[in-house]
Amino acid sequence: MSEALLTLNAGSSSLKFAVFDADAPSDTAEISGKIEGIGRAPVFSARTADGTALDKSALETLDVAAGHDQLIPQLLTWLDHHLAERSVVGVGHRVVHGGRNFSTPTLVDDSVLQQLEALTPLAPLHQPHNLAAIRAVAAWQPDLPQIACFDTSFHSTQDRLAKLFALPRALSDEGIIRYGFHGLSYDYIASVLPQHLGARSQGRVVVAHLGNGASMCAMKDHKSVATTMGFTTLDGLMMGRRSGTIDPGVILYLMQSKGMDAAEIETLLYRESGLLGVSGISNNMQVLSSSPEAGAQEAIDLYCHKAASHLAALLPAIGGLDAIVFTAGIGENSAAVRAAITNRLAWLGVELDARANAANDTRISSPASTVDVLVVPTNEEAIVAKACRQVLA
Ligand code: ADP
Repeated sequence: MSEALLTLNAGSSSLKFAVFDADAPSDTAEISGKIEGIGRAPVFSARTADGTALDKSALETLDVAAGHDQLIPQLLTWLDHHLAERSVVGVGHRVVHGGRNFSTPTLVDDSVLQQLEALTPLAPLHQPHNLAAIRAVAAWQPDLPQIACFDTSFHSTQDRLAKLFALPRALSDEGIIRYGFHGLSYDYIASVLPQHLGARSQGRVVVAHLGNGASMCAMKDHKSVATTMGFTTLDGLMMGRRSGTIDPGVILYLMQSKGMDAAEIETLLYRESGLLGVSGISNNMQVLSSSPEAGAQEAIDLYCHKAASHLAALLPAIGGLDAIVFTAGIGENSAAVRAAITNRLAWLGVELDARANAANDTRISSPASTVDVLVVPTNEEAIVAKACRQVLA
């Protein structure tokens, strides 16, 4: 029986997992699943590669208030049951922040774990859960190799100007620079671009990863040249709950005139802003799209306006635009958001085929469009599994 690789992707309120064949270099997981709604009402689902749903037996009833720390061990017990005699030879983790020290997939030991822990303030919604998953696996099978794969790695090709803030040099030297995130998703999209664009895939491409967290990456020759997220996962686009870029003077005002402390501002910017804050209704695009409230439409309009503005601002770095690729939950599923963003970019020669867009086809640009517009599902797990195979080899 072939050996297996497990990938874990612990998000702010979700835990995604996938099981791959350790030897066959396939992007398709044999089993994949997730626990969603962590902290509110966790719901588990899992399926095989052909879409067959797997039963939840061997999974204890999920406690409504359970956090990642409690749910990960429950998931590992479920996996023990479903993998039966098959041995897992390595576990790959999506880790959001690798800081300055980690830019390639890294075998985790105590020292690595400690250094990753120190980066928690830079990604407070994700890093603690990523590390909780590593600890839970160490308790499950202490000798199992664990490989951390970083969302920051893909952006290590950017030149110095793309990374610098206009801050005193000493602060940049200390590591207060733009890192960029969602790199596993961009890495996957870059790897499949030739299938969709042929030689044009080496051109000037902007990938829009629009999920709960959202960012864009401007690529040339499949490499990251510029991206919208920066030092933390707060920068750039408006997101489900995060503000994205705001005038830094607002933060000073909140502190000086409204007496807010750092923890309160962190909560405001990471959890209470974005689609949720503007709409006053929900952080969920699907919920907002079907809401008749004016606040919901205004939040969607602002989201699309900011997305188009950020996309345009990336273009000087790559010298123009050959293709836009939409990916992640909103990018893959919301025809209305894709249309609202690309309509604002018509002056660049972007034109959608309305029928293809409504059908979520892969190519959604019209034949007259000078820019190719694609919808490509992301697969961060495939990149993690590939990195694990390489590290373990
Ligand atoms: P995460 O960043 O947590 O992995 P996802 O990539 O799953 O998130 O994206 C979640 C977002 O995708 C939510 O805002 C959800 O409403 C949105 N979404 C999913 N399906 C649709 C749809 N059919 N129409 C509009 N938005 C959708």
